[in-house]
Amino acid sequence: MPGTRVRREPPPFRRVEVVRKEPRSPYLVRVTLTGSELEGFDPGLPAASLRLLLPEEGGTDVEVPAWSGNEFRAADGSRPRIRTLTPLRFDPDGLELDVEIVLHGVSPLTVWAQGAGQGTPAAVSGTGRGTTVDVGASAWLVAGDESALPAISVLLPALAEVTDVHVLIEVRNESARVDLPVGPRTAVRWRVAEPDMEPGAALFEAVRAASLPDGVQVWAAGEAAAVQRIRRYLFDEVGLARSRAIVRGYWRRGRAGDEDG
Ligand SMILES: Cc1cc2nc3c(=O)[nH]c(=O)nc-3n(C[C@H](O)[C@H](O)[C@H](O)COP(=O)(O)OP(=O)(O)OC[C@H]3O[C@@H](n4cnc5c(N)ncnc54)[C@H](O)[C@@H]3O)c2cc1C
Repeated sequence: MPGTRVRREPPPFRRVEVVRKEPRSPYLVRVTLTGSELEGFDPGLPAASLRLLLPEEGGTDVEVPAWSGNEFRAADGSRPRIRTLTPLRFDPDGLELDVEIVLHGVSPLTVWAQGAGQGTPAAVSGTGRGTTVDVGASAWLVAGDESALPAISVLLPALAEVTDVHVLIEVRNESARVDLPVGPRTAVRWRVAEPDMEPGAALFEAVRAASLPDGVQVWAAGEAAAVQRIRRYLFDEVGLARSRAIVRGYWRRGRAGDEDG
């Protein structure tokens, strides 16, 4: 039908359950998922994405939705609560999958993560595109906010082997810092967001102040408007070739992760 959007069908959902939970900071929790349906799960390239299906509000079980040609829909036609996360670690023998979830406010994902315990059901679909590590880059600049911490945790070991890596991370306060897998050629700088500043403003300033040597490769992810400023800075002001930067909006201020946009 003219005007009807048809998207490529994502991988089907696999039912899983929580096996354990571990706080990484007061604001970031690692959740380990398991289930026989994880057999054959492909964690993808570093910083790939997956969809996590949450139970309906107030519910406990998940109903695996069907693909409508454009989006996932529950049997009653309603939109399921789905959020995008980063696969952190997948153990194909033990069938365990780790994700890390940022705790903020009373959002569906935060509430789910806080309430989840051993046996809590969920489902995952994935993975989506990850990052190809350019071993020829002279250096990497990696920038992100708290939502990008899991992706950065996966990227760093892959990069440490090949080049100098400068990491800039915006956090809400000092206690949101976490240990990262840094190699000898990795330098991490934390930026604490100023009260009253827009999310990502401190990150943007840090990126502006960073040196961008010839042949640098940039990876940045965080709040959509903030990373859009980073994108414009890199491409329009600095004149970086588009192939030299991967810049991704991970969430949008004031908008839920399953709202279209
Ligand atoms: C490729 C990709 C990988 C991602 N990986 C991860 C990951 O590994 N871990 C992770 O926690 N997130 C990750 N995210 C971001 C996550 O999908 C969004 O933050 C999502 O909106 C969170 O859902 P929610 O239910 O908490 O909030 P929503 O219901 O989506 O939003 C409710 C409100 O909270 C705000 N909000 C949403 N996220 C944040 C945030 N992080 N900080 C402050 N305010 C926020 C929204 O603007 C909105 O006003 C990733 C996103 C992408 C695209």
